Amino acid sequence: MENEQKKIEWKGEVVSIQPRSTVWRYLIDNRTHRECGYNIFLKGEAFFGQELLQHDPISNQYDFCVAISEKQEARLKIHIGDVIKGTGWTKKYPEIEFADYYRAGSIKKVKAADEDSAQTMTVIHDDANIRYNGTTIPRVNSSDYSGPPWKTGVPPLEIYAWRGERMLSKTSWKGKCFQCIWANMANVTIQYDFDRNIVRNRFETFCYGPLSCKYYSMGPARTVPYIKISGVKDQGWLDEICVENRNDPDE
Ligand code: SF4
Repeated sequence: MENEQKKIEWKGEVVSIQPRSTVWRYLIDNRTHRECGYNIFLKGEAFFGQELLQHDPISNQYDFCVAISEKQEARLKIHIGDVIKGTGWTKKYPEIEFADYYRAGSIKKVKAADEDSAQTMTVIHDDANIRYNGTTIPRVNSSDYSGPPWKTGVPPLEIYAWRGERMLSKTSWKGKCFQCIWANMANVTIQYDFDRNIVRNRFETFCYGPLSCKYYSMGPARTVPYIKISGVKDQGWLDEICVENRNDPDE
């Protein structure tokens, strides 16, 4: 459904920052993830002119969510506890975008988090296990930092892309995983009918974190609908393919 878009202004304290991603599903033959920025979750307020906007967050840990680009995050180095403000746009297609506001602009850090909570993971270039094209693999080591949940600044998107992800229970995402940099709420497109190019959309929760994380719970298997085929479920074996690059469960 197409909505009229409004330019709004927002301000709030960051309570979580997570990768923003899109996922394409086709039965249980394919689940492709693409990281395209970050979602910041805030406790605060958003206005359209003088009008205070109402939100309907799926967890009581935040008020609203703003999608930002990797460039914006690299410039601001956002951490939990920062107070930031900016502009954004309401959603044209609410069924395909989880964040409440996107196309964010004029973002400024009004107040930085305490130094203690402003830790960022160091990116290590692994030249012992190079990629097929000869480039080094950028990695971070979660076990060098306190967690779970890991509440540091977020690493670059290529770190997430290389690590891959597993399905994470929605209850965990809303609860004890909410502030973790490895948690993810994805905008998912399901290819429902190839011949007529019909798709279905929904939001799903994933985890890019260490395979050994004691908080991890996959949750129930996920139905992947396709025309005239019923009962197809992602039981978790696609997760094994998605995280096949990992050889250290604590990474
Ligand atoms: S299960 Fe994943 S998202 Fe949750 S705390 Fe562990 S690493 Fe973070």
